[in-house]
Amino acid sequence: MTSMPATENIIEITYLIATALFILSLKWMSSPSTARRGVRAGEVGMVLAIAGTLLHHGIVDYRWIAIALVLGSILGVPLGMVHMTAVPQRTALSHAFGALCVTLVGTAEFYLRAPDVPRFMMAVLSMEVILGSLTFTGSLMAAGKLQEVLPQRPLTYRGQNLVNLSLLAIAVGVAMYLVLHPGEKQFFPWIVGIPLLFGVLMIIPIGGADMPTVISLLNSYAGLSAAAMGFVLDSKLLIIAGALDGASGFILSVNMSKAMNRSFSNVLFGAFGQEQVSSAGARESRPVKSATAEEAAAILAAANKVVIVPGYGMAVAQAQHKVRELYDALTKRGVDVKFGIHPVAGRMPGHMNVLLAEADIPYDKLLDMGEVNPDFPQTDVALVIGANDVTNPAARSDSSSPIHGMPILDVDKARTVMVIKRSMAAGFAGIDNPLYYLDKTLMLFGDAKSFVGAIVRELTGGNHS
Ligand code: NAP
Repeated sequence: MTSMPATENIIEITYLIATALFILSLKWMSSPSTARRGVRAGEVGMVLAIAGTLLHHGIVDYRWIAIALVLGSILGVPLGMVHMTAVPQRTALSHAFGALCVTLVGTAEFYLRAPDVPRFMMAVLSMEVILGSLTFTGSLMAAGKLQEVLPQRPLTYRGQNLVNLSLLAIAVGVAMYLVLHPGEKQFFPWIVGIPLLFGVLMIIPIGGADMPTVISLLNSYAGLSAAAMGFVLDSKLLIIAGALDGASGFILSVNMSKAMNRSFSNVLFGAFGQEQVSSAGARESRPVKSATAEEAAAILAAANKVVIVPGYGMAVAQAQHKVRELYDALTKRGVDVKFGIHPVAGRMPGHMNVLLAEADIPYDKLLDMGEVNPDFPQTDVALVIGANDVTNPAARSDSSSPIHGMPILDVDKARTVMVIKRSMAAGFAGIDNPLYYLDKTLMLFGDAKSFVGAIVRELTGGNHS
């Protein structure tokens, strides 16, 4: 009898430490220099939260938990090893699993408690299963679009938003009825089934281009449904962790929309990427100037100030370690090298920071858009490596461009611009880039990793592999 309060105290203390670690984890992850510590803190917090939960007296049999742990690990370990560029869809899958879990727990709790479900409890339980179900199918759809197993193109039809919002309204209406009449069990499947359908329909009109923003929004829904589950299960830890997840996911979606100069409603209802109406959409046939690795190396060696602008192509080519060699070779020659990081370069927030940190580029050399833009007019060479949209001057000057108004890195203001990419193909937004036709621009055609490697060999006299 005396052991019970002691175990409960241990559980409470474990949860308290886990909560503190989750909060610290978010704080530390907001800067590249402390991000690793943040990830570790989150991991330890999660292990403590699971350990505390396993100590609960309510658990009568550990066998099913053990089977679930093994199955979860079999799925989770390979998911954790995907290539960096596949992280957005991997994240969407984790949200789908989390949301499925929340929905199943909510459903089980309803059938265990009904008809004696107090109104507040029924309200949060409904919120839990509605958000959980729509996040489950929505996240699966988002993962499918990003992995290109589903068409990336937005599919739209007349009255689509009305149909979708009406469905959601019906689900909320049924939930309100259940709050008043929790004994009417036959209506419960409606508040699971309709949101499952809504999750699919909600993603259909959104283009693959907007999926990362949608994923962080779904992250926020998953967090809110987990917080609601915390009320149902009377778990303060779940309420806090869910609220942190919900708030951070929402802030991230807002920040990403801002960096792409899109409003939230435009991301969700705008069917971006459906058709390109801009004059910039037509590929130009004007000639461009190109250069070899030898010429590029000579120009870089003669420069005083170089700003490297990485983008999605650097990530695909996994060129970050070669970029580090280039940074070393140039700094050794006394060239001042900095990196200009656009907030939505690549395919997920912080993509470039993560890759450059992996290659041990000093954090103080990574400048964000606001810091680096005033430097471009005094920069001798802006070296763009696999970036496209985030350097497109049409965003400033062409009001008909789909990316008009999106803040960009002003590389065109540097004295010379060199762009490493494989062809004249467009980037994510599917539009041409007038930067490539400027007199001061030299195109360096090739794969980012091989081309940067070739420049390094020129600079070091072949001392690098
Ligand atoms: P981008 O506009 O997609 O352009 C990437 C360029 O890399 C392409 O033009 C491609 O040209 C080149 N490339 C691909 N593979 C390469 C390789 N192996 N070697 C060399 N070059 C290669 O990329 P970005 O400038 O980084 O812009 C990011 C875009 O994603 C923005 O439109 C942004 O709004 C969007 N987005 C970002 C996020 C985020 O969170 N970061 C989220 C949602 C949307 P070639 O094919 O000719 O090589």
